[in-house]
Amino acid sequence: MSVNQQAHTGPPYGQPQPGYQGYQQPAYGGQPLPGVPQSQYGAYNGPMPGYQQPVPPQGYFPSLGFPSKGSPVSLNSDTSSLAPNFIGSLRAPPTSGAPPPASGASLPSGHLTYSQFGHGDVQNGIPASAAPMQRPPASQPFLPGSAPTPVSQTSTFQQYGPTPASVQQLSNHMAGMTIGSTTAPAPPPAGLGYGPPTSVPPVSGSFSATGSGLYTPYTASQGPSPTSVSQGLPLAQPPFPGQPVSTQRLPTQVPGFAPSPSSTGIGPSSYPPSTGASRPPTMPGPPLPGQTVAGPSMSQPNHVSSPPPPSTMSGPHPGPPMSGLHGPPPPTHPPQPGYQMQQNGSFGQVRGPQPNYGGAYPGTPNYGSQPGPPPPPKRLDPDSIPSPIQVIEDDRSNRGSEPFVTGVRGQVPPLVTTNFLVKDQGNASPRYIRCTSYNIPCTSDMAKQSQVPLAAVIKPLATLPLEETLPYLVDHGESGPVRCNRCKAYMCPFMQFIEGGRRFQCCFCSCVTEVPPHYFQHLDHTGKRVDFYDRPELSLGSYEFLATVDYCKNNKFPSPPAFIFMIDVSYNAVKSGLVRLICEELKSLLDYLPREGNMKESAIRVGFVTYNKVLHFYNVKSSLAQPQMMVVSDVADMFVPLLDGFLVNVNESRTVIVSLLDQIPEMFADTRETETVFAPVIQAGLEALKAAECAGKLFIFHTSLPIAEAPGKLKNRDDKKLINTDKEKTLFQPQTSFYNNLAKDCVAQGCCVDLFLFPNQYLDVATLGVVTYQTGGSIYKYAYFQLETDQDRFLNDLRRDVQKEVGFDAVMRVRTSTGIRATDFFGAFYMSNTTDVEMAGLDCNKTITVEFKHDDKLSEDSGALLQCALLYTSCAGQRRLRIHNLSLNCCTQLADLYRNCETDTLINYLAKYAYRGVLSSPVKTVRDALINQCAQILACYRKNCASPSSAGQLILPECMKLLPVYLNCVLKSDVLQPGPEVTTDDRAYIRQLVTSMDVAETNVFFYPRLLPLTKADVDSDSLPAAIRNSEERLSKGDIYLLENGLNIFVWVGVNVQQGLIQNLFGVSSFSQISNALSTLPVLENPFSKKVRSIVDMLQVQRSRYMKLIIVKQEDKLEMLFKHFLVEDKSLSGGASYVDFLCHMHKEIRQLLS
Ligand SMILES: [Zn+2]
Repeated sequence: MSVNQQAHTGPPYGQPQPGYQGYQQPAYGGQPLPGVPQSQYGAYNGPMPGYQQPVPPQGYFPSLGFPSKGSPVSLNSDTSSLAPNFIGSLRAPPTSGAPPPASGASLPSGHLTYSQFGHGDVQNGIPASAAPMQRPPASQPFLPGSAPTPVSQTSTFQQYGPTPASVQQLSNHMAGMTIGSTTAPAPPPAGLGYGPPTSVPPVSGSFSATGSGLYTPYTASQGPSPTSVSQGLPLAQPPFPGQPVSTQRLPTQVPGFAPSPSSTGIGPSSYPPSTGASRPPTMPGPPLPGQTVAGPSMSQPNHVSSPPPPSTMSGPHPGPPMSGLHGPPPPTHPPQPGYQMQQNGSFGQVRGPQPNYGGAYPGTPNYGSQPGPPPPPKRLDPDSIPSPIQVIEDDRSNRGSEPFVTGVRGQVPPLVTTNFLVKDQGNASPRYIRCTSYNIPCTSDMAKQSQVPLAAVIKPLATLPLEETLPYLVDHGESGPVRCNRCKAYMCPFMQFIEGGRRFQCCFCSCVTEVPPHYFQHLDHTGKRVDFYDRPELSLGSYEFLATVDYCKNNKFPSPPAFIFMIDVSYNAVKSGLVRLICEELKSLLDYLPREGNMKESAIRVGFVTYNKVLHFYNVKSSLAQPQMMVVSDVADMFVPLLDGFLVNVNESRTVIVSLLDQIPEMFADTRETETVFAPVIQAGLEALKAAECAGKLFIFHTSLPIAEAPGKLKNRDDKKLINTDKEKTLFQPQTSFYNNLAKDCVAQGCCVDLFLFPNQYLDVATLGVVTYQTGGSIYKYAYFQLETDQDRFLNDLRRDVQKEVGFDAVMRVRTSTGIRATDFFGAFYMSNTTDVEMAGLDCNKTITVEFKHDDKLSEDSGALLQCALLYTSCAGQRRLRIHNLSLNCCTQLADLYRNCETDTLINYLAKYAYRGVLSSPVKTVRDALINQCAQILACYRKNCASPSSAGQLILPECMKLLPVYLNCVLKSDVLQPGPEVTTDDRAYIRQLVTSMDVAETNVFFYPRLLPLTKADVDSDSLPAAIRNSEERLSKGDIYLLENGLNIFVWVGVNVQQGLIQNLFGVSSFSQISNALSTLPVLENPFSKKVRSIVDMLQVQRSRYMKLIIVKQEDKLEMLFKHFLVEDKSLSGGASYVDFLCHMHKEIRQLLS
């Protein structure tokens, strides 16, 4: 990742600024330029006021309209029709001479001629002159969600001629910014949210009307009170009676570790109560939860509410010091007397000790081997420590009912597990950007002291719920977007217009830039442009610009992309029925290629290749009666043997394509070929796209380790004995650099590779996945693929993958205001310099996590700004820029940092950081580093923000009270601590998946959702309340569902009533339930319908179709299921939550002493 193999191809600011040529024009005064339709912008009406509706499940809405599949069409088995066209072993293209421009370079039918100024009623371009300040009526021209693409812009194509094949990266358009200017950025936007009491609108002044008012409900609901984990210290006195509450978020005291809200100004940096005390006036509204003295127990019913007796926890640990948690901490915890045993409402079972696994398990070399005293007589009550379920539910009830309005700087959004609507009022939606903290330290010293990583998880093309408005597309015509002269930041709500509107000062670098004449507008008495609400780029956090030709490779508008389907037809693929399945599916799936807005048909062209040791290309030109096959057996120097007829329009060539897809399974029905090649397949796709001068995506369906003689040939190097050794990292590294180089070429061409793997044995995902990973593609793995059980999952994944929104040839840059800068990047992409993230393809599910570091001081007044600019080619070939802006607060008090963190995002970052670390460091080192960093984060809080208390008290910041439990889940995950059943390929696969996950995905992946199905209300649409992931929460008489984004388990207790079993499985007894089921039987009764609707709902929410696994209690598969009960000890040696919390406490105390 983040390879810097190539010098940047252009000077950072070398690109001429489009849009300044016409500057002499005396167009001041808001007169529209000639040629710019006055009305075309009028339809943009600014943000819609007032979302009121409850939110449907957020997330993905893929494939809903996809037709169900009929039974396979009988295939034309007459392969002889192809025989005449077999051209053996070609060495050169059959067509002589230079290839003609690919047929695909011509415009697809139905396109419209490109016009720089857009047409008709689209929402692009320049608004009518001098629009009054009030917003137009909220008649949205677009039906949000009616199309997968952002805007129903007239499909605008340029008449592009063929471009030279040579490729030049365009990153210089995303030109660099200079940081370090000491000039103070624009006027202080302080006061919003956490700033000084003087409530000053942000830079643009645009949020003053709504900001403070809207903030109120959030502060109120954001303020869960402290949680304390008591490990036995007295919770004696009522916590801090009458203490002024100075914060929105108070610390969590893990019950028994004792109470003590952090807000008292104590500790070295003495967080003064006055800081906060001065704030409440700016935050009218209901009293903060923390303002009541009973904070912890009130908002955390799950936590202890009465003081346990003094704890011996404060005493020294008798056990040996533990550096890094290999296994769970040894059971050396001193007695934990006095926990208030709390019965969790829904579970009447007596809280016993943690499920008591024996000491040594296979694969747990470290656990059990450590000396230590016998287990303590009494342990921490799991109900008294912070509960993820409780936190999730509290956030849902506090924040799920009102829209999240983004007009206020530094607001912490609701959790990813809360359904909420977002209203863009100047900052990007949390669906696009989430941060580890929304209030960042002013100095790097503070940041280092806290050890809280400053990172943003960015999902630039995120899918929005239907109720939310897609980003508007702004068309500035030939001049292109308005940008800062120096840092090239794009026009955004935080730019400050000065001198009557003739110039603007950059909010990122403070440079002053002339406003281009065509963009001039008068300012109102507050200094705001009068067209403020008419321009998305002035009033919204997220929007798009239509890119000009300057933003295109070789200064030519791109062709529409192409999809190439490349099918392994070796023995295993044919025998398993996979080849036939794929071919059948493609016949209908090709009608569902992504299309732009309201276009009738997709602009994407398609091509087909099959392969084993050799490659077969197919000519499916519409004029042919039958498809033609061309075989390339010399795979050492891959070329494409045909150009005309390889990439075609589906509708034009439908007959020939269907004929081909009918014949492929028959042609290879009797194959004996077991060996495959792999790299030449990618090379072939790459060459085809090069020849067609377009970007595109390869869909490769592959079954085995490519051992046939060819470039990129691999050997089986799997060796589980390397686990827990210094060489373990090699299991995650590619075995050859060949694929890295290939990936680089693919990125240069905009060739994204999606990989569907069907292995029956090791096939080296770590190596095969390299190109997918670096091109921004997706990888899917179906081990031991069986038609009967796996086809639904595969076909659903394939349909979503083909249909999902994707941008091609993408370059992303994140600009920041002076004082911080993006220093590190995590995700599926390629980097040829230190600032530009390049992706051959970027789809709606992919995230890029960006870390920031200080390079100067920040100011509380100015805050900090991020601008993420993504340049990409849409599925119709339109070049666009998508801009997301986010403003954050800055603080001089550590308490403000801790009060505005988001643990889910922090975990997303930490997991990605650790998963990258295993490439270069021993896994143990990575795990130890994670533990150490989190201990430092919590120790810093304890030292500087919490009130003084006995060392025996574990005090956690409220916003981070789940950090220990979630961190433990990351440490126990298959990548960092594999169980015996986890294969090397599984680990490489998971590693790759997690690297692109968004915050919601990592949240459920590391802490799965566990639902008691038997508690579901069959008459309501709601889900049953989730429970904590521990075996002791399961009742033998109930049925549970557990999902983690990749799998769904349905666990059936041995004592489940026969009637329930009959209703759900259609069999009369527990013993008759088959755990070979991959779907639930369709039965006509309310319970069956309810459970299936829950499963369907979850499937739609996740980006991948989850595998359904039936687990009977005490059955052998239960081991697999228990692996996901992440609060328990794991078979691979992972610590239980309780044990890990004690261990973290010990680490923290060591740091403090
Ligand atoms: Zn600038």
